[in-house]
Amino acid sequence: MARSPVTPTIPLDAKGIHHGHLRLPHSRDDSAWGSVMIPITVIRGAPGPTALMTAGNHGDEYEGQLALRQLALELDADAIAGCVIMLPAMNLPAVRAATRTSPIDRGNLNRLFPGRPDGSVTEKIAHYVATELVPRADLVLDYHSGGRTLDFLPFAAAHVLEDKAQEAACIAAMEAFNAPWSMIMLEIDSAGMFDTEVEGQGKVFVTTELGGGGTATARSVAIARKGARNILEHMGILDGAPEIGPTAQLDMPDARCFHFAEAGGLFEPLVDLGDDIAEGARLARIWPVERCDAEPSVLRARRGGILVSRHFPGLVQPGDCVGVVAERVDKS
Ligand code: CA
Repeated sequence: MARSPVTPTIPLDAKGIHHGHLRLPHSRDDSAWGSVMIPITVIRGAPGPTALMTAGNHGDEYEGQLALRQLALELDADAIAGCVIMLPAMNLPAVRAATRTSPIDRGNLNRLFPGRPDGSVTEKIAHYVATELVPRADLVLDYHSGGRTLDFLPFAAAHVLEDKAQEAACIAAMEAFNAPWSMIMLEIDSAGMFDTEVEGQGKVFVTTELGGGGTATARSVAIARKGARNILEHMGILDGAPEIGPTAQLDMPDARCFHFAEAGGLFEPLVDLGDDIAEGARLARIWPVERCDAEPSVLRARRGGILVSRHFPGLVQPGDCVGVVAERVDKS
């Protein structure tokens, strides 16, 4: 297979604080020998484990991008035992365009792992991260939110894994992140996800969904910042104990959690994020846009639980995910 065309402008394995870029050649009309310059910070102190922290996997999700910008300026190499690699804008073209996917090739980075060294720009990013950065890491924290088309209760998440020791380590890291909600998450389709790649390499993986709607809030950014520091303390990279507040445990046991629109139109939510809903109860109505004499279509909850995610803009299209209902887990 071809070699990656990506070149880091900083050493990845040297002690100290290094801010630089992953330079990915991108020949185009306005720059014949141009590059995509993906920002990266590597902070390495005394010997210890390595955390890889990524955001901007989807360009329109902001909590992680903001938390990592600040963390990159705050961490002191002399005060850490181990290494922190930060990629706050992993899919930089998407971040610059404020879109989920890359405007260069429409690549959805989180569906293109393990990538290709000779593929599209987005595939080349995936390949470099998967082959050069993930192998260096003991733990990967990949920040997500709902982006422009979804909104979430703020949660950190881990997946059910075949390797139960690895699953336990992921759950422990999720609990250390200590978002207000902690989710055992089911994916609609895990093929090509960064999550799947990292877990497949046997690493500890934590992801988040911290809000959405194409912006962040003071509260959601604070959750993201605390979570990063807690993870570093949990790993022993930073001194001190994680700051642990209350968290509610949630589970997505099966595909009945997901609710998809069959008709398009005006989206009328009938429950809000954090509300409880009974199986069979009305979750949303969708009104046809073009006429006044038509009844709305009604979406009913396919399971009882708590609404953890909803479609964000006011219009839906057929096939849109309009709501996710998760199960509350009593851990006592
Ligand atoms: Ca996302």
